[in-house]
Amino acid sequence: MSDFVIAPPLQPAVPVLGGGLFPVRRIYCVGRNYAEHAREMGHDPQAEPPFFFSKPADALVIDGGDTPYPAETQNFHHEIELVAAIGQGGQNIAVEDALAHVWGYAVGLDMTRRDLQAWAKKAQKPWEVAKGFDHSAPIGIMVPAAMVALPLTQRIALRVNGALRQEAKLSDMTWDLAHVIAELSRFFALFPGDLIFTGTPAGVAAVVAGDHLVGEIDGIGTVETRIV
Ligand code: MN
Repeated sequence: MSDFVIAPPLQPAVPVLGGGLFPVRRIYCVGRNYAEHAREMGHDPQAEPPFFFSKPADALVIDGGDTPYPAETQNFHHEIELVAAIGQGGQNIAVEDALAHVWGYAVGLDMTRRDLQAWAKKAQKPWEVAKGFDHSAPIGIMVPAAMVALPLTQRIALRVNGALRQEAKLSDMTWDLAHVIAELSRFFALFPGDLIFTGTPAGVAAVVAGDHLVGEIDGIGTVETRIV
């Protein structure tokens, strides 16, 4: 029995290593969080604190699924990212407590309509059409935080059709995960189920239909998708 007047939407969820599903509430993303990527986008990496945008939870593409080439772009870019999954919510979380709020980790892709992002920046318009569209968030299998070595210094890399496109270490982040969570929680009350895409290293570039993307973070996992 339910009072819903239409069938309620499906609950987005990410499969967990060893079984089970992590239900997803919101997807927050950090902009410009690796110095080399900030520079390749024309910005000073030290100029500002982390800033945030979001994607709808149902933008997830579960590992191995196809990512449709989106409409209204001629420049569809990959951004490989560490994803942190919040298991314990909070507001104004202290940096030193922040990692205790993480339930698990995954490898994700913040797929971006780069031409529309450039337009939005120039026109001083919101980023939604550049970042928050359907199928814009491929994600791999989630690993529980207890299985991940800290501090987060692991290698993160993306290959497209076997060719290395992005490679860095998680320790290259301008704002490490604890600072990201602390800062994000000043603006939004975090709840269990929230995902945080933590920014991408240098090497972002365009993909086309048929491309096969495999992202990896040592000790955390992989994400795989094909552009169709
Ligand atoms: Mn990104």
